[in-house]
Amino acid sequence: MEIIKAVRGFKDILPGETERWQFVEDTARKVFSDFGFKEIKIPVLEKTELFRRSIGETTDIVEKEMYTFEDRGGESLTLRPEATASVMRAYLEHSLHASDAVSKLFTFGPMFRRERPQKGRYRQFHQINVELLGPGDALVDAEVIYMLMLFLERVRLTGVSLEINSLGCPECRPSFRKVLGEYLAKKEKTLCEDCQRRLGTNPLRVFDCKVEGCKAAVSAAPFLIDYICERCKEHFREDQEGLKALKTAFAVNPRMVRGLDYYTKTTFEVTTKSLGAQNAVAGGGRYDRLVKDLGGPEVPGIGFAVGVERLISLLPELMEDIVRSPDLYIASLGQEARKLAFILCNRLRHLGILAETDYSNRSLKSQMKRSDKLGARYTLLLGENELKERKAFLRNMKGGSQEPVGLDDMENQLVSLLKAR
Ligand SMILES: [Zn+2]
Ligand SMILES: [Zn+2]
Repeated sequence: MEIIKAVRGFKDILPGETERWQFVEDTARKVFSDFGFKEIKIPVLEKTELFRRSIGETTDIVEKEMYTFEDRGGESLTLRPEATASVMRAYLEHSLHASDAVSKLFTFGPMFRRERPQKGRYRQFHQINVELLGPGDALVDAEVIYMLMLFLERVRLTGVSLEINSLGCPECRPSFRKVLGEYLAKKEKTLCEDCQRRLGTNPLRVFDCKVEGCKAAVSAAPFLIDYICERCKEHFREDQEGLKALKTAFAVNPRMVRGLDYYTKTTFEVTTKSLGAQNAVAGGGRYDRLVKDLGGPEVPGIGFAVGVERLISLLPELMEDIVRSPDLYIASLGQEARKLAFILCNRLRHLGILAETDYSNRSLKSQMKRSDKLGARYTLLLGENELKERKAFLRNMKGGSQEPVGLDDMENQLVSLLKAR
């Protein structure tokens, strides 16, 4: 019989890779909690309406990429294409704003978008999401960006660059939309069908289009940043001062328009250069209207998402120190020794030592091979002689040196020997 394989664009993450995932998540948990953030766990499935309202009807995500289906009750549901909308939904549903004026939240998990399959892109992909709700100050923006950069440094990502921009606010953006609309109208014939339609609805979205003609059309378009109002300008200036004060390098990129409608004011993107290509690993921005647009009170917010697959693919090749190998392998010969190995192994685990052994009565040679394969730091040999003399030898697998350990009170001796190095 043929085996059943995973759905196209969906991927298993196997041992050997999961160590990196854990390292990234553990580091995120540590860094974010140092900044006072708390984890929130949210469902992967939501009512379709939530994404239509938050992400925007005319975005690529909502128009083309969502996994939307009717369930058996006839309700339109969607596998979440991003996390912010769900976090906002939970924030409102549980009135988190009522219990605390500031909510600092982060979450990990899979997102789903039915994009064209290409190398390194999956239809189920993972993000780390951070959302900070309550304060609307520019220094908060700088702080959130600083935290992101610190996290990326702690996971050992190199060659990182940070770009920021301001997308203005509902007061100043319409005037730019008009200017841009007029500019693009002159180039209408060079735009793709989608973008021609977007001219009437949301010309800003033309900036995200990947079609060559559209890319060329926007390359000389006016800059949004030249049209933002005084308050937005002041906010952007303070944000930059905050970043400078925290010694965080950045560049202003007036062309950066992130592909979601809900962003206001500060937006940012982190890229790295590897193999000549520029890769975005994280991005985010302020969304001061989103909570209100979803039917809640007027609460400003800012957040970012890190693409975990991308991030992991860019981490250094060699990260041996994040892989946990056995502290000790116990090789045993004979019935009695095997029983002792069984007890000792499990007692050591109980004491926090990663110990391995096997019960299949294999030759000493193959047990030593197994110890080597597992990368054990030490091997303990238990045979008839050792039992008789109440003494065994602990072998350092790297240096080859041996030292005797008495069989009585062996666990405590081993724990102090192994924990000491
Ligand atoms: Zn403004
Ligand atoms: Zn287009």
